[in-house]
Amino acid sequence: SKALVWLRNDLRLSDNPALVEGCKLDETIAIYIHATDKGLRPEGGAARWWLNRSLNSVAADLAKIGVKLKVECGLSLDVLKRVAGETGADSVHWNRRYGPDARELDKTIKASLREDGLDVSSHEGNVLAEPWTVETGQGKPYSVFTPFWKTLKAKDIARPLPAPRGKSIKSDAVDTDYVEPAWAEKLQHYWHHGEKAALSALDDFLEDKVEDYPEGRNVPAKDVTSRLSPHLRFGEISAREIWHRALAYAHAKPSKAGAIDKFLSELAWRDFSYHQLYHRDDISKVSMQPKYEGLEWRNAPKQLTAWSKGATGFPIIDAGMRELWETGYMHNRVRMLVASLLTKNMLIDWRRGEDWFWDCLVDADEANNPASWQWVAGSGLDAAPYFRIFNPVTQGERFDGAGDYVRRWVPELGKMPDKWVHKPFEAPEEVLKSAGVVLGRTYPNPVVDLKSTRARALEAVSDL
Ligand code: FAD
Repeated sequence: SKALVWLRNDLRLSDNPALVEGCKLDETIAIYIHATDKGLRPEGGAARWWLNRSLNSVAADLAKIGVKLKVECGLSLDVLKRVAGETGADSVHWNRRYGPDARELDKTIKASLREDGLDVSSHEGNVLAEPWTVETGQGKPYSVFTPFWKTLKAKDIARPLPAPRGKSIKSDAVDTDYVEPAWAEKLQHYWHHGEKAALSALDDFLEDKVEDYPEGRNVPAKDVTSRLSPHLRFGEISAREIWHRALAYAHAKPSKAGAIDKFLSELAWRDFSYHQLYHRDDISKVSMQPKYEGLEWRNAPKQLTAWSKGATGFPIIDAGMRELWETGYMHNRVRMLVASLLTKNMLIDWRRGEDWFWDCLVDADEANNPASWQWVAGSGLDAAPYFRIFNPVTQGERFDGAGDYVRRWVPELGKMPDKWVHKPFEAPEEVLKSAGVVLGRTYPNPVVDLKSTRARALEAVSDL
């Protein structure tokens, strides 16, 4: 008997239940489909780049256990039927996904393949606990993180499965149609792809960084977070693998247990995002708090462009947007600041920012990205209170006091003294002069006035 294992957001061998199931049969073929089905959100540019490399990496790993990876393009059901016919597969296996359209699609596909006489199995593999298994005492979904976390933590999170074994076959490169765009050249300096790289990022993090994580994670100039997000996005590592490795590490090094608990609570935010993706209407399109659908967002294309190019005149914002453009990643604290400036001070619809992130982030995630944008905008679950409007100057001074992060990404402010590096627009003329900064020429003037736009944002929300 032959099995088709349909890979989606799970490009790994370890802790891959669908692959384990498929490998119980005589022969196993893996398939990845660049799906054109309605309702599925196509990857943005940076994620597409990552995907291509990740597919090549998993194809090589699969070949080592005797599984060939086929990469196809088209409507998922048509492709699966055709490939099942061509290969003589009699069963299809996959790990579940949680977006509303993807779920509907998978249901239809399952029914149709079964009608054709194929055996179909779907598995839990992409979250710590499936969204419907974490519920309130009344059997309802959670809308606040802290009780969600308590319930999740008390659960018995499934142990990761070992990778299947098999005899190695020759591996070919996959996906030859994709040509890496010229802009992607810069991204490769910042990342390693694939399952092995993900595991070693986790081990390095636990060994060298986690101790400083609870405090240091808010300081964008510090490299103390795990940078596992793009690996998780494509399932090069499973959340359960991270969970259990981290717990084992905490057990072996009790002095780090507190820091590891903090890290796991952040990892749980990812499950909380999937909880929202599962239980709500399309969270990338619809505000979770309905009143926000009535908010009159501004149409301000010039400000949107200044924001996306990292030319707002607020150094920490510009540093973040340039880090994103250069690396496909942005530090979490700075993600919050840039999202706040866009949705509150500029009063531009959170969907515009979410779209930009979707295209630029290597970790652009169907649950984490919209859930986090809505969280900052105030329209999300357990959202920041509407009056929490981050001030990019005071936040910069607090979390990047010495200006290291700003100087790294905004080199034209490299010579500004610490005192003024987050507010060059307030610096005395002689300070600007000796730092070689000419506002409006070498570095922009602020595109919004923080005080009046703050008041405008508060008013817009209080009208709802
Ligand atoms: P670590 O701090 O090492 O955390 C480990 C893992 O836990 C992360 O990889 C991630 O999977 C999860 N995690 C950590 N913090 C959060 C959080 N606040 N919300 C949800 N999950 C979290 N994360 C994405 O993975 N994809 C996105 O598209 C994305 N878009 C975001 C947009 C905005 C506006 C904001 C404010 C946050 C967004 N995040 C997103 C969440 C967070 O910024 C990133 O997960 C984190 O910065 C990734 O770096 P890391 O892997 O080093 O994180």
